[in-house]
Amino acid sequence: AWRSPQALQLTLALVKPDAVAHPLILEAVHQQILSSQLLIVRRRELVWRREDCRRFYQEHEGRFFYQRLVEFMASGPIRAYILAHPDAIQRWRTLMGPTRVFRARHVAPDSIRGSLGLTDTRNTTHGSDSVASASREIAAFFPDFSEQRWYEEEEPRWR
Ligand code: ADP
Ligand code: MG
Repeated sequence: AWRSPQALQLTLALVKPDAVAHPLILEAVHQQILSSQLLIVRRRELVWRREDCRRFYQEHEGRFFYQRLVEFMASGPIRAYILAHPDAIQRWRTLMGPTRVFRARHVAPDSIRGSLGLTDTRNTTHGSDSVASASREIAAFFPDFSEQRWYEEEEPRWR
């Protein structure tokens, strides 16, 4: 089947507060998703509780930017998406571009971060980096979402 965990991967994408605060930037990110054949499976907007944010980014605990990152990510509304594509994780990360904005502007000026990112912390978007982190991150934002049910039962919608 074309819609199976083998054929269609899921990833979690976040639009960070710097981008959600500006409707044109938010819309530009949304258009990038639509024009990249990424299927939008779920979408929600929320303001993150600081403790959830800390847990989400716990792999970075102790890094110099950790506190700054947590404060920023909890500073205003974010948008979360579950995206599907045969190569969703890598495809979304390629669209985002490199983590750090100076590098993104140089090596991938048309990427989301390269064109819209403000600083190394306020870099517009997040994307899962592996199948395991995608599962964990999807569950964190969409606790009622069942991957298995989606693959087996749900009618896909392209908008
Ligand atoms: P990515 O988001 O590309 O997976 P990381 O997982 O390494 O990157 O870092 C998580 C987030 O922490 C980044 O998206 C960025 O917001 C912030 N960050 C990472 N490295 C730095 C840095 N050197 N200075 C400031 N913020 C950083
Ligand atoms: Mg990461």
